[in-house]
Amino acid sequence: MKSSNRLLIQDKYFVPYLSEQQMQQRVQELGQQIATDYADKKPLLLCILNGSFVFAADLARSMDIVCQVSFLKYSSYVKDKSSNTAKDLLGIQGLNEDLINRHLIIVEDIVDTGNTMNQLLKELSSHKPASIEIATCLFKPSALKFNISLKYIGFSIPNDFVIGYGLDYDDYGRHLSGIYIADENQN
Ligand code: 5GP
Repeated sequence: MKSSNRLLIQDKYFVPYLSEQQMQQRVQELGQQIATDYADKKPLLLCILNGSFVFAADLARSMDIVCQVSFLKYSSYVKDKSSNTAKDLLGIQGLNEDLINRHLIIVEDIVDTGNTMNQLLKELSSHKPASIEIATCLFKPSALKFNISLKYIGFSIPNDFVIGYGLDYDDYGRHLSGIYIADENQN
């Protein structure tokens, strides 16, 4: 990687990790896989704001099937640290869609400890959907602390802080087309 690609976001340096092309190619593959699996099921994509907005937009457009898209808002990170409790900011009660007997696909930006997904799975299950699966753009396997199953994973990555493609640092960096990782050298 060229050092000129190094970015300073607020007080932290980031370097390129996954390019726009890699993201686009992998998300297309995931979308096609989901479209095959859900061909006649009219799934409801539940996209977790804010971080999944780019992934959700690309994923939904790569799925050539009938589906619905809706949004939930949770937050568990403050700057670059997990707060351990996922705050429900725009929850299930605010959804217009009835979840009963629906095939739900949670669309998440990144699964880190798995706490957010664990809480959400429990909450969604009580609404008696036909099925629930998770599609996450990124996954940090070595950070996982909960027993959750991730059916669709874009990329598994190391346990380091990343931004871009919807993910932020202190609310900056979401617009980047690729994924950037915190530079080992912060000087
Ligand atoms: P979990 O509940 O799995 O520990 O954390 C999930 C949430 O933490 C994600 O939806 C995301 O908002 C945030 N998060 C976890 N790891 C990262 C990371 O490396 N970068 C950013 N920007 N957010 C992260």
